Amino acid sequence: MISRRIDEKAIARAKSLIDRAEHIVTVCHTGPDGDAIGSCLAAMHVFSALGKDIRVVIPDPALANLRTLPGAKEMVDASKFGEFAARLIREADLILCLDFNELSRTGRIQPLLEGAKAPMVVIDHHLNPSIDAAAVISHPEMAATAYLMFRVFCRLELFNFIDKNAAECLLAGMMTDTGNFAYNCSDPELFDVTAELVRKGADKEKLYNSLFNTFSANCLKLNSYAMLKKMEVFEGEGAALITLSRDELNRFHYVKGDTEGLVNRPLAIPGIVYSCFMRQEADCIRVSMRSRGDFPVNEVCSEYFGGGGHLNAAGGEFYGSLDEAAERFRSILLENKKRYIDK
Ligand code: MN
Repeated sequence: MISRRIDEKAIARAKSLIDRAEHIVTVCHTGPDGDAIGSCLAAMHVFSALGKDIRVVIPDPALANLRTLPGAKEMVDASKFGEFAARLIREADLILCLDFNELSRTGRIQPLLEGAKAPMVVIDHHLNPSIDAAAVISHPEMAATAYLMFRVFCRLELFNFIDKNAAECLLAGMMTDTGNFAYNCSDPELFDVTAELVRKGADKEKLYNSLFNTFSANCLKLNSYAMLKKMEVFEGEGAALITLSRDELNRFHYVKGDTEGLVNRPLAIPGIVYSCFMRQEADCIRVSMRSRGDFPVNEVCSEYFGGGGHLNAAGGEFYGSLDEAAERFRSILLENKKRYIDK
């Protein structure tokens, strides 16, 4: 049994906007992940079955493994088709903002959204949505926007419009935001919804293989190289560091997404509380950090790497050489231990 959780008024507002709309555009954040893409594509499948003209506009390309989701080929990538994306947003009579809480997260399409005359409906699970929308359905306690989308479809009485394609997209979103049901899974209804999606024909095994277990040979070699040759473990300080230079990335023909998840790997080591991965980019060193428990990597990233994020997942940038960035990280280990681990 799936309980009612979405506010009646928010659903009623969203329903009247959707009922009236003919040309819907659904948008998501930059670097769209499985939840963002899955939610947008599910909306496309369900609302087009309902007879709406609906297009998905993404700010930049989706990773290759997400391009296998049903309907992914129909997405309009604003980094390649800027004019077309602008026209769709301009001419839309409803904009669905899925899986983001601030317009600043939408990159190059932000000015288009700010200038759009169409009302917006936000459906999202990030904290503190700040978008000035006609309807906001925000549930930060839910594991994925796709999970929330399933509930929204049900409340809009569109359960029967969720076909196999839509089910697969929703399940993809739920799987990616929970690491294939490894975390953020304490809500038992997540599994009730999963069961419904599987009943509708979503093939979880196929999704697992395409989303979690498809890598190029170069990607596997790069990650093995990083673990074997580049991981520094600071046992006494509960930390680990991996750095990859431009040369190293080039040697393995790095493409975007190849180091996805690498930063998490050292957290598997007992006693390692936080982990840092640094990747040299054209103009800066990209820093990402992950942690366990209450170690606040967002504070560390904001204090030393001009960034921020969540308690257990954050990032930042460093302007200088990779060695200098790594040295800065090593130099703060003792201080971090005193402040956050031995406290
Ligand atoms: Mn999400």
